[in-house]
Amino acid sequence: MQNRWQEDKAEKVKHSELELRVYTSRLLGYDKSLVLHGGGNTSVKLSEKNIFGEEEQILYVKGSGWDLETIEAAGFAPVQLEYLKKLSKLPELSDPEMVNQLVTHQTRASAPVPSVEAILHAILPYPFVDHTHADAIVSITNTADGEKRIREIYGNDVVVIPYVMPGFDLARLCAERFAAEAGAQTIGMVLLNHGIFSFGQTAKESYERMIALVGRAEDYLKQHKAWEFAPAAQSVSSSGELARAQAKLRADVSLAAGFPVVVSRHANERTLSFARRADISTIAQQGPATPDHVIRTKRLPMLGRDVGAYVAEYKKYFESLEPKAKERKSMLDPAPRLVLDAELGMCAIGRTVKDAEIVADIYNHTIDIIQRATALGGYRALPAKDIFDVEYWDLEQAKLRKGGKAPQFAGEVALVTGAASGIGKACVESLLARGAAVVALDLAESVVTMKSGPNFLGLQCDLTSEEQFKKALVQTVERFGGLDMLVLNAGIFPGGCRIEALKTEEWQKVMRINLDANLMLMRECHPFLKLAPRGGRVVVIGSKNVPAPGPGAAAYSASKAALNQLARVAALEWGGDNIRINSLHPNAVFDTGLWTEEVLAARAKHYGLTVQEYKTNNVLKVEVTSKDVAELTAEMCGPLFAKTTGAWLPVDGGNDRVI
Ligand code: ZN
Repeated sequence: MQNRWQEDKAEKVKHSELELRVYTSRLLGYDKSLVLHGGGNTSVKLSEKNIFGEEEQILYVKGSGWDLETIEAAGFAPVQLEYLKKLSKLPELSDPEMVNQLVTHQTRASAPVPSVEAILHAILPYPFVDHTHADAIVSITNTADGEKRIREIYGNDVVVIPYVMPGFDLARLCAERFAAEAGAQTIGMVLLNHGIFSFGQTAKESYERMIALVGRAEDYLKQHKAWEFAPAAQSVSSSGELARAQAKLRADVSLAAGFPVVVSRHANERTLSFARRADISTIAQQGPATPDHVIRTKRLPMLGRDVGAYVAEYKKYFESLEPKAKERKSMLDPAPRLVLDAELGMCAIGRTVKDAEIVADIYNHTIDIIQRATALGGYRALPAKDIFDVEYWDLEQAKLRKGGKAPQFAGEVALVTGAASGIGKACVESLLARGAAVVALDLAESVVTMKSGPNFLGLQCDLTSEEQFKKALVQTVERFGGLDMLVLNAGIFPGGCRIEALKTEEWQKVMRINLDANLMLMRECHPFLKLAPRGGRVVVIGSKNVPAPGPGAAAYSASKAALNQLARVAALEWGGDNIRINSLHPNAVFDTGLWTEEVLAARAKHYGLTVQEYKTNNVLKVEVTSKDVAELTAEMCGPLFAKTTGAWLPVDGGNDRVI
């Protein structure tokens, strides 16, 4: 355990206890072996003057929905401390009433909803309280004799609390046990199968006690040869075959979930070694390391690829435990969120890429925890009933609802060619804005860093190289699980040249890029588009030159016309595979890299027009931008065009030669 306290950093915020609270909360959040994604919480008790000028004790406790790693002062909810202590003495308090009491006894209307563990923080008689779900603690407590081991490690330094679901009952139990068992040397509290609390007079003291306590658990694991495990498996490089297996898995899981999901594959020595363990069907089928993981990972990962069997088991789990719940529950989607497979390794599943990343982070830690507990004599998670109660606890599900309604293309994957500039770049933006995961391909290296964030993957790729494209496609599937939308945008427009002067090489070059490459792309993408949960969609960025060719552009016009005909044949052939393909014909889109101010001015002059007249030289007298084309491209992939295939649509402000 690394103590990350830095005196100079603390010095800068020492004028404010709340800022010190923020500082050490972030130190905890930074260490992923302590807390993951919204797990854990911290608090500080401060004395403040209320509006009447009276001193009042306020508990600043982490607000629900905030991550310790990035928390700010505004992320702490100020609740009246004496009131919380009074609440802790009630014989019982329902969840909705507890939340109501917490929210109505805050001193700042704009504060977030306080953590469900607020009352527990209130009853601990120390200014600073820190709580984590440290890997080392849950590794030790998720074993048959976990309590004995914890007492052996800590003696009277901690109070030990048996597992009780978080909320009011846990706060009450902790209050009782703490009053009965805490002594002068008590510096923490271990919650079996859940996590650990530390506390102290100062932010530093409480933080350093957490580090020291967890450090002792880590030392214990090391002494018992339950810390590190040499991987047995070699990592294997991705292949088309694995990509197809992964895409099939994604299709099956999406069907079970009732919405498209992202499936990201993590196949490395560690995950493959774990997935191939002889005892995997025992150790990976016990349950999560700490109950709040369940809302992300579900209780159990799926072993292998039989989604139907997983769904049947999930239904059984729900049907056997739902009648025992305090109130009636309706079943969540029964699809797995994590898959362990001897060939695929570990696959993390989510409604969004971010969700899948969270699942992967949690399970990467779970692998360590399970292997360590197994080395101590056997991983033993909480009974299914306890996990069910947290999975179906409204206050936990509320955390997921905070994300809001899923965007239009959540869980779907789009691939755009010629994506580094102009219409391609605008398509990337329009698809990202609708929540799709987007893979951007371009010859230009700038595509790699063009956008950031979990939904974007930029790959440099020469589309005339079948080998390069196949590699890009494998990377696409490995990262996101499949392919739903393909935007064929890349193309070249060579300078004007009449037929009598057109060289064969020039003609062939244009055909190779504008036509042949797209045939190869369509062919290679077909197996994946066919598996798209909402059906595959292809949009071809054509040209006005298809319906209305221009002199001097023979190769370009012919290549785009042939591509258009290819798309129409694809519409006929692929309709049965639920893939629709449509063409857009833009014209006079000038906000692209090709059109500099000088070129525009020269062309306008050539036609005796001003630049503005030249830009809007169409029936509607409007300027057509890359964004106009991109927005229509994205919409063509959406429900408005769900029943349209083989169509071509101009986006040109109206052209008298086309109309
Ligand atoms: Zn907790």
